[in-house]
Formats: sequence, structure tokens, C-alpha cells
Amino acid sequence: EEVDVVHLVTELSQRLEHAYNRTIKVHKEEENMPIVGDCNKLKQLLIILLDNGLKYSEKHLDVSLHKKPNGVTVSVQDYGIGIPQEDQASIFDRFYRVDKARNRKSGGTGLGLAIAKNIVEAHKGTLTFTSVPGEGSTFTIALPFHINQDTPKKRVKRK
Ligand code: ATP
Repeated sequence: EEVDVVHLVTELSQRLEHAYNRTIKVHKEEENMPIVGDCNKLKQLLIILLDNGLKYSEKHLDVSLHKKPNGVTVSVQDYGIGIPQEDQASIFDRFYRVDKARNRKSGGTGLGLAIAKNIVEAHKGTLTFTSVPGEGSTFTIALPFHINQDTPKKRVKRK
């Protein structure tokens, strides 16, 4: 089905702003960015990243949408506690939480990012992040316009 990423991000951001009483700034280059995907899965994916951003920071979030030649990117940037270097390789593992040393009110299962990665991969996209402890984290989703994009076929030379 066709999903407008701008619409989806705007709608979810507004809902979470109200639920958490926090600010989420959405930066968009265009009014519409349609892609082909599973709307419910994409919702779940965005909620996981927005929810984490809000959980692990106290300031506003910046969400930026960009159009690329092959698809769209969505980055969720927070200005929170960040992820220690030694944990960065594991955060996509199921049940992994950077828990022990940190004081925090909100719980979780450690499944969120594993599910997020799964959803992105089912859409043939990528999920990456950068994080600096004490400064914050940015998670970036890149999604192609179509799940079944034509990949250039390799030419087989025959004798
Ligand atoms: P839930 O499954 O409810 O989302 P969770 O937040 O613990 O629980 P994940 O979303 O999988 O689980 O995240 C794994 C770990 O990565 C978290 O426990 C947290 O330590 C770290 N993490 C994820 N997002 C952020 C973020 N934006 N800033 C700092 N740490 C983060």
C-alpha cells in the first residue's frame, strides 16, 4: 500500500507530543513523500524510535525527513543521555538494555530496537545511528520508494 511518510511522521509526532507533553519538531523538505510499505509496521517502527528518543532525553526531539534518489530518510535526533561506546554494538540485539548503570524511571523490554530493525529490513531499508554519551543520539531510517525495486541485473558474459 502507499504510505505518505510526511503524513505518518506528523500524525505520530503530534500524538506523542500530547501523550508525553513534550516537543517534537518535524523538519520536512516536501509536503508529501509517498513510499510503498506496510502502514501499520511503519507506524510501529516510528513509535519505537520516537518513544526511545523521548524516554532517554528531556529536551525536544528533531525529526528530519529527506528525499533521496531511491527513497526517503527519517532521522530522529535527541539531546539526551546517549549510548555508551561499549554498548553501541549490542543495542539491536533482542532483550539488550543499557540498563544496569543507568538510573531511569521508564522500563522496557529491550525488544524495541530489534523489532525496529526487523521492520526496516522487511522494507529493504537500513537503520543506523550515531550517539555521543551525554550529548544525545540520532537514529536514521532509510526506506526505498518500493520494496521490490529493480536492482540492476548483472550482465553475464557468454562465450
Ligand atoms: P523497549 O523494548 O520498551 O523499547 P528498551 O528501550 O529498553 O525497551 P530498545 O528500544 O530495544 O529497548 O533499546 C535498547 C537499549 O538501547 C535501551 O535499553 C537503551 O539503553 C538504549 N537506547 C535506545 N534508544 C536510545 C536513545 N535514543 N538514547 C539512549 N539510549 C537508547
